[in-house]
Amino acid sequence: AKAMGKGEYQFYAAGMNARGQELLSLETDLRRALQREELVLYYQPQMDLGSGRIVAVEALLRWQHPEKGLVPPSDFIPILEESGLINVAGDWVLRRACADCARLIGQLGSVMRVAVNVSPRQFNDPGFVDSVRRVLGRQRIPAGCLELEITEEIVMQEVSMTGSTLSELDRLGVRLAVDDFGTGYSSMAYLKRFPLDALKIDRTFVEGLPGDQGNAAIVEASIYLGRKLGLEVIAEGVETAVQREFLQAHQCDLIQGYALGRPMPLPALIEFLRDISRH
Ligand code: C2E
Ligand code: CA
Ligand code: CA
Ligand code: CA
Repeated sequence: AKAMGKGEYQFYAAGMNARGQELLSLETDLRRALQREELVLYYQPQMDLGSGRIVAVEALLRWQHPEKGLVPPSDFIPILEESGLINVAGDWVLRRACADCARLIGQLGSVMRVAVNVSPRQFNDPGFVDSVRRVLGRQRIPAGCLELEITEEIVMQEVSMTGSTLSELDRLGVRLAVDDFGTGYSSMAYLKRFPLDALKIDRTFVEGLPGDQGNAAIVEASIYLGRKLGLEVIAEGVETAVQREFLQAHQCDLIQGYALGRPMPLPALIEFLRDISRH
């Protein structure tokens, strides 16, 4: 029985059944997708609540499948992780995101930051820092325009290299954000131990604001904690005007969510940003 990640042992233990076959063929498809450049990045805007400006975008991976259409990351990133293909795909995401960022800066004539998701296996690859350095050198965007979103799983892992990798990335000048803050682990020691720049409040806590008292407490406390530690605080999954008002009232720095815009391909993003600057 081969392990395919959490909760999927049963499919393999039972032999190569339909589900197992499907996963294998997906892996083969993904290898081909990487060669045929079927992966695409969508971008979702992030707004600075202080200035009302869009100052950053998050790059979100999609798979433009020839038959299945646009496949969401939840359907294929676990397979990329498990097969090790995530290192090749992650490298591509970095290059594409930085190239697109350079293009955005050129076309808009103002700085724009791009946030890129980093998976644990990609982060732990001994060549990761070098690949970030190489991409920055090639695309010639200021290092501060690249933000790496890392999960609590990464900062909490018992790997001695984690600290030195984060320090090296910090020294390169790229920004480091903790993604899905509060969903993974209860320890907060990592917040003061590592050279972090931002903290991203998970969408599950933004849901139901301001009525949900538990979530309101968690969000308020997270913003307070982030500010006290000198971290920029971003809230994701902001869908409504009342959520936005709540976050603004509590001095959250940035918001991201459907209330501003859905993830979109680069040309649509450029249109979107031009539209906004006209109003
Ligand atoms: P995430 O990093 O938490 O990204 C935010 C997810 O929330 C995105 O889902 C986004 O489309 C969605 N979202 C944004 N605003 C709203 C909103 O207002 N309401 C709701 N309900 N959802 C909203 P998406 O694009 O399906 O990505 C899912 C996850 O896949 C991401 O979660 C991230 O963990 C992973 N992912 C995406 N792209 C990459 C990548 O390039 N590399 C890696 N390693 N992971 C990626
Ligand atoms: Ca993210
Ligand atoms: Ca830093
Ligand atoms: Ca999240």
